[in-house]
Amino acid sequence: MDDCIFCKIIKGDIPADVVYRDERFLAFLDIRPINRGHVLVIPLVHAERLTDLPDDLLAAELPLARRIASAVLEVTGATDFNLFNTNGVEAGQEVFHHHIHIIPRHAGDGLTFNLNPVSYNEGEASELAGRIGNVMTS
Ligand code: 5GP
Ligand code: ZN
Repeated sequence: MDDCIFCKIIKGDIPADVVYRDERFLAFLDIRPINRGHVLVIPLVHAERLTDLPDDLLAAELPLARRIASAVLEVTGATDFNLFNTNGVEAGQEVFHHHIHIIPRHAGDGLTFNLNPVSYNEGEASELAGRIGNVMTS
């Protein structure tokens, strides 16, 4: 994708602080880190969302993210981390090349998801669970 900033990083047209590269994935520091050591893991092939990735690539991505997260924790001294993935504008996606955020966490670092949970009406949760389940098995 010519206008994709992450494809440009893959090609070396834009510099990045690379932490890992193999034949399928690239990992580099986020330019606007939530905490020091915030890493992005991306597939070398351009895919907009998680749902656009083939199963084998997706299956390889999580073990890699786990390995990188362990290295991030070792180097930053953080004990905890979040994996985060955005799919679409309403989910906060800004770069439309699938990526997983690895974010080391520290006590009092201020990151919150500001969750404001909604409530189910009587019977709504079981009905919704059933409908989703039906799609899964259809
Ligand atoms: P999103 O909101 O799409 O899940 O996250 C995109 C991330 O990419 C953001 O955290 C942003 O800081 C990072 N980012 C955007 N442009 C660049 C860039 O040119 N270089 C690097 N290293 N990170 C970038
Ligand atoms: Zn791309």
